[in-house]
Amino acid sequence: MALIVQKFGGTSVGSVERIRNVAMRVAKWRAAGNQVVVVPSAMAGETNRLLALAREIQPNPNPRELDVVASTGEQVTIGLLAMALTELGVKARSYTGAQVRVLTDSAFTKSRIVAIDQDRLRADLEAGIVPVVAGFQGIDAEGNITTLGRGGSDTSAVALAATLKADECQIYTDVDGVYTTDPRIVPEARRLKTITFEEMLEMASLGSKVLQIRSVEFAGKSRVRLRVLSSLTPPDLPIDEEAVSGTLITFEEDENMEQATISGVAFNRDEAKITVTGVPDRPGIAYAILGPIADANVDVDMIIQNASVAGFTDFSFTVHRNDYDKAMSIVRKVTPEIGAKDVVGDNRICKVSMVGVGMRSHVGIASQMFRTLAEEGINIEMISTSEIKISAVVNEKYLELAVRVLHRAFSLDQPQ
Ligand code: ADP
Ligand code: ASP
Ligand code: MG
Repeated sequence: MALIVQKFGGTSVGSVERIRNVAMRVAKWRAAGNQVVVVPSAMAGETNRLLALAREIQPNPNPRELDVVASTGEQVTIGLLAMALTELGVKARSYTGAQVRVLTDSAFTKSRIVAIDQDRLRADLEAGIVPVVAGFQGIDAEGNITTLGRGGSDTSAVALAATLKADECQIYTDVDGVYTTDPRIVPEARRLKTITFEEMLEMASLGSKVLQIRSVEFAGKSRVRLRVLSSLTPPDLPIDEEAVSGTLITFEEDENMEQATISGVAFNRDEAKITVTGVPDRPGIAYAILGPIADANVDVDMIIQNASVAGFTDFSFTVHRNDYDKAMSIVRKVTPEIGAKDVVGDNRICKVSMVGVGMRSHVGIASQMFRTLAEEGINIEMISTSEIKISAVVNEKYLELAVRVLHRAFSLDQPQ
């Protein structure tokens, strides 16, 4: 008998019909003798609707109250799913994050899970009951409701799997696995049967939102076996088939297979670029510009400082688009203070990245990437690299073209 945590995303619980399908799927895994914990998200579009309601009342909503509102979407689906399971004769019981006691820190709207109480869940599992636990939400030490950031149900599921030492955490979604790139942008994208944690972490952090990045970090650290699979297959698909479907996230050392050089192309439309020009090149300049940005809690992604010419340099960095206005007003203030010439910003950029552990052993990937973009007349505005990824910032109007041509140039549409 295995213990499995099954998470179902918004589309997968997007209607009464789909909730019934989820219940049938869970019932199938139960009937095969497994213990199952289910973690649903809110119905598709619901969290957006709730956040929009809050913003109608308060353009900059109070974060504590925002979490009270945003967390309600999942309270609806746990109840409905527990009912649907009961209708099928499966014993089930719904729990909010607070009822389980999913303890988080108090960083409203982006809280981190600190600990999860197991007692109730263990008692239910022993009694043959399926606990249906709300994703995305928790409670802080003072009893406030918290949420884990957009896409946070993935992290709820992984954290539950880690706490309960589950045999597998299955993330059911509206695609049948992790693809070489977002199949909505490139229809020729291929499903990967496996991807390493390291690559998945890069893909998620570079914009592939199929898994929330924190869930991948958590699973990697806690060695949770993680699989992404489809909730849109027939719910009575034989269990043996379903159990090996989708994409398994693997630990590299488990892999005997020859690795493809590139596993995927990720992209991110959420970035904005700020450039300070004519910066006097002297010690402390980077700190003078980025110190106040960090103090304002704004995360900086890429940073480039040009070689100085006649004692002056240009300094560029990127931030999340939501932080663009805040960052611009900080830098506008700093610019005259450090004797720099001007500041220019661009929030119509995007970042396209190639990811693959095979890059470690292959040379020429970067030049092939740059040539491919050049042949399409796509100008690269910034570049950053790490051991297993190369990212380029380009004008957002080229995003889809860049992803498509890179996908083709690296033969990601061909069976490996
Ligand atoms: P859920 O509501 O189930 O959590 P999400 O919308 O968060 O679903 O994630 C699934 C979506 O992720 C897919 O519909 C797909 O468009 C998108 N996606 C982005 N990159 C990838 C990728 N590399 N592989 C698969 N899906 C991807
Ligand atoms: N419902 C939340 C969201 O839309 C959490 C999730 O779907 O994972 O972000
Ligand atoms: Mg998601």
